Amino acid sequence: PSAPVGSILRAAVRRWGDRTAFVDHDVPLTFTELGARAHAVAGWLADHGIGRGDVVAVHIPNCRQYPPLYYGIMLAGATFSPTNPLLPAADLAAQLNDAGAKALITWDQVLPFVRGAIAQTGVETVVVTGEAHTLDFAARLDGLEPTDVDLADLLAGDPADRHLDAGIDVAADLAHLAYTGGTTGVSKGVELPHRQVVTNVLQSGCWTSGALPALDEEGDVTLQQVLGPDECPTRLGEARIINLTPWFHAMGAIGYLNGMVMGGTMTVIHMRFDPVKYVEDMVRYEVTSIGGAPPVFVALLQVPGFADADLSRVRGISSGAAPLPVTLIEKMQALMPNATIGEGYGLTEVTMMATGNPTFRSGTRKPGTVGVPIFDTEITIRPLGGGDPLPAGERGEVCIRGPQVMRGYAHRPEATAESIDADGWFHSGDVGILDEDGYLSIVDRTKDMLLYKGYNVFPRELEEVLFGVPGVAGAAVVGRPDEEAGELPVAYVVRKDDADGAALTVESVMAAVNGKVTPYKRLRDVRFIDAIPVSAAGKVLKRELAAREREAVE
Ligand code: ATP
Repeated sequence: PSAPVGSILRAAVRRWGDRTAFVDHDVPLTFTELGARAHAVAGWLADHGIGRGDVVAVHIPNCRQYPPLYYGIMLAGATFSPTNPLLPAADLAAQLNDAGAKALITWDQVLPFVRGAIAQTGVETVVVTGEAHTLDFAARLDGLEPTDVDLADLLAGDPADRHLDAGIDVAADLAHLAYTGGTTGVSKGVELPHRQVVTNVLQSGCWTSGALPALDEEGDVTLQQVLGPDECPTRLGEARIINLTPWFHAMGAIGYLNGMVMGGTMTVIHMRFDPVKYVEDMVRYEVTSIGGAPPVFVALLQVPGFADADLSRVRGISSGAAPLPVTLIEKMQALMPNATIGEGYGLTEVTMMATGNPTFRSGTRKPGTVGVPIFDTEITIRPLGGGDPLPAGERGEVCIRGPQVMRGYAHRPEATAESIDADGWFHSGDVGILDEDGYLSIVDRTKDMLLYKGYNVFPRELEEVLFGVPGVAGAAVVGRPDEEAGELPVAYVVRKDDADGAALTVESVMAAVNGKVTPYKRLRDVRFIDAIPVSAAGKVLKRELAAREREAVE
């Protein structure tokens, strides 16, 4: 596509108009209102010298102000660089400097903290919003410093489309400068031009909605429904979802912000995860699809009453960002028999998505796999040390080629050259297997792999077994350094709140797992904890658990 990201908004406003786009604390925002506010923001940014080549960092949690700000940045031709609102000050400053942010959008309650962080950065403009439930769009904040800009000023501007993004070079101008989650190490800036972002929104939208890319009467990008309601139950203009996935993360920004706007979906915004409220709102808003990272589903299954709630309207369940254990899929499917479960796989470096299990009814879903490449995407498996593609069934590094692959890492030419080869293949750092039918399974991440006496042990394989042990609510396996063996597999286990959970012992868990795996993979210890640490994007923070093991040994 040769359209910039703002095109997605223009088409959605024209097509979905008075439909509700977002609901936050019961306050609705229609597509028309979203469009008007986004254009007002874009006009303000342009009038204040912020446009092509300028990076605007967005340091707010999901709230109703986020979508107009995001599209305002897109329409102004500037670059959106989201930050995790929970980042410690030093990390925030480092990220803003790495991104070269010129402006920062943040919210009033964290302002003193943010001010400290930006003192050592090049940020010139700070826009301040209030937390969603305390601030109406038009409201003004008290106590701002003269250099601060009130969000109300941005929104008070002219809502007309001034076509500020008309001059964008979609192949060269960055729409997003997104930072990797940092789950396994240093967070790197991923450069995503408009073309990558628009392409991946279309690729993932086709996957969820049984649709094909199309241009509307004004030449803006949209989707055209192809599959009928019996074939693809998640339909354009009909879906209602609750969104928890942070918009600062790839899955949030592409799948849940742009994807839902393009698809005419009504999104109920939950800034924080409250499983009980989530289930209440599923019923209240007649939610048709649920989605997110696997920890969300684990928590929902624990909500008393979830199994008895009327979930018959749920027709789509989509999961991504982390492995979805097969036992979890079975439990979800039993409760929501009308739903198809689509599991997708991707990374920030490929904008968001590379593969998915089919979401249409007649498609073959293979639980335990992350499906097949989405359109225009190729996957090969190569030896971990490099080399030619391996045949089906062999384990190696997942390599991805397609129009959604990033341009590169910002200011890191060596890291870019290491990850994208001369033929355009992106080397993901994930270990996977392609089967005879082209379905991809993610075995683990190379960085999480353990080495026991020279053998590779993949923690994920042990976690799959742990998830099947009665009484286990959550589990993560990491390595304990050992002079003789290298690393020993150790399980962190969260007990279920029931009799099975209470009965678990170190010995019973080890026996349940070790009877099912080859000897060198056996668990050597089990530690019970209250909760597995997860990142805001729903990924298990293994490095925190691994650090505990290292400390215990030292
Ligand atoms: P960093 O690379 O800095 O450690 P991160 O891994 O959190 O950060 P993301 O781009 O958010 O960065 O995550 C991508 C990773 O998430 C993939 O490399 C893969 O390991 C994992 N992942 C995504 N989807 C799935 C899935 N469906 N099943 C298993 N793993 C997945």
